[in-house]
Amino acid sequence: MTPGEIKCGMCGLPIHPSESGVRHFGTFVAHSESRCIDLLRGRLEDQQASIGELTEQIARTERNRDMWKGQCERQAEAMGEMRKVLRSFAREAAEWVEMGDTRPVVESGNITVGKLRRAAALVEGA
Ligand SMILES: [Zn+2]
Repeated sequence: MTPGEIKCGMCGLPIHPSESGVRHFGTFVAHSESRCIDLLRGRLEDQQASIGELTEQIARTERNRDMWKGQCERQAEAMGEMRKVLRSFAREAAEWVEMGDTRPVVESGNITVGKLRRAAALVEGA
């Protein structure tokens, strides 16, 4: 609504100044009956379209939620497996004092005792 705009007493929608067929009943002003029905039908169609879009968005959001939930569950399972493996390495690595932190355990992967100790500390802190 803009200032000075008149609202239809029947449908509640604005009455344009150039609107024809406007009915005046004292201070009560209304579109013609068929105009009110056309305007309300238009509003109904717009709102049905909005509901359709929102329903699609909700369905898309729920699919994303389910996808991420599944992803999180798979990652949590993988992390659980890694924790089990790292814990056993961590116990051993703690005893490899003479190896220092920089000595590679596996040459090709650049895995050092220090990296294993840090990874184990992260896992233990989780
Ligand atoms: Zn009206």
